[in-house]
Amino acid sequence: MNKSDSEMLAGQFENLGIIPDKSFEDADIMVLNTCVVRQSAEDNAVSLLNKIKLLKSSDDQKFLAVMGCMVGPNFRNLSEQFPHVDVWARPQEFNSIINLVCNRFNINLDGFLSNVTEKPGVTKFISVTHGCDKFCTFCIIPYRRGREKSRTINELMEEIIIYVEKGVREVTLLGQNIDSYGHDLRPRKDLADLIQKVHEIKGLDRIRFLTSHPNDMSIRIIETIRDLPKVCKNINLPFQAGDDIVLSNMRRGYTVNQFLDKINLIKKMIPNVTLTTDLIVGFPGETRLQFENSLNVLREIEFDKVHVAGYSTRKGTVASRKLNDDISIEEKKIRIREVNDLQEDIQYNKNHRLIDSQLDVLVEGHKRGNLFGRAMNDKIVYIDFDGETKINYGEIIGVNITESSPWSLRGVPVTKL
Ligand code: SF4
Repeated sequence: MNKSDSEMLAGQFENLGIIPDKSFEDADIMVLNTCVVRQSAEDNAVSLLNKIKLLKSSDDQKFLAVMGCMVGPNFRNLSEQFPHVDVWARPQEFNSIINLVCNRFNINLDGFLSNVTEKPGVTKFISVTHGCDKFCTFCIIPYRRGREKSRTINELMEEIIIYVEKGVREVTLLGQNIDSYGHDLRPRKDLADLIQKVHEIKGLDRIRFLTSHPNDMSIRIIETIRDLPKVCKNINLPFQAGDDIVLSNMRRGYTVNQFLDKINLIKKMIPNVTLTTDLIVGFPGETRLQFENSLNVLREIEFDKVHVAGYSTRKGTVASRKLNDDISIEEKKIRIREVNDLQEDIQYNKNHRLIDSQLDVLVEGHKRGNLFGRAMNDKIVYIDFDGETKINYGEIIGVNITESSPWSLRGVPVTKL
């Protein structure tokens, strides 16, 4: 989501004739887009702000803006702590930055109309909701990004159509809890309505979305994923813990069995679906046995990818006030390693089964000297080719899978679609 915000602001700057510099030391305008989901990310932002303070003290013409979720509803304390910051902007509230930059550098705002000005790549993240109403006890997002707010379907359609005209072939619709999209709109809408509309855009080949909450993923949404050919059959459904007591302490709002029921329903309705998830280990009070319950869920579901993190206290959350962070860092590291080892085996086996199959791959670019793209099921596929056949970024090609690893696939092109 932060990447999408940075790209959007960079596009708006470009429209004003402001071009990116290689290092912030040389730049006249510095914008720090912050993430505070983890304490370490906030610590990095604070350390960078202190570094920039020195830079600004030797050149007070430099302009510094800070945006993103570090800037909560009440940022007066931040202004007092970092008086060298020229402007604080809450997520997606770019206008204050744009206006101040124009004033400071005498830039004429007339004719500055379009939000979508950058030259995007083949794939594009689109923020569709901001904030979250769930208030999981470990999470800072609702306090920093505020309550859920959905952008209208019309506004999103306009933006996506412009991106598609500029060459985008795949969009990922983003929200902290994307499945609750539209409940705050009048008339009320849901994610299925949005996906169905976006699906009509000519020239757009693929639609993905992130991140889901098990309680809000409705049958209507699952049917839409199943029925619409451009919607990638891949769902990220965080379970966070495989134990009912830990889930209740996290205030996730579901039990392990309810989560498993939802997964089984998805697997039944979309037979070839791939599933990814998020998991926290070492949550306050999580016993060894409770952690092993999480491992059991991983064994039972066999996710295609797991983002695992050790619990870290975020000041201001319910967990920070009421629960004691009593699992040592060493123990958290051990649990992370166990999850990763288990997942490596699961992913090795799952990916190995794809050898000799053919996957349609949207070519995204080059990585480590190899042409690569992603299949509908979200697998990264490296493409071996003779160099004679011309393959362009943005093309969808059939690839015969010849090799696999736990993290990616490799194959040779067989058809252009
Ligand atoms: S649903 Fe996700 S973003 Fe919302 S509070 Fe829970 S963890 Fe945070």
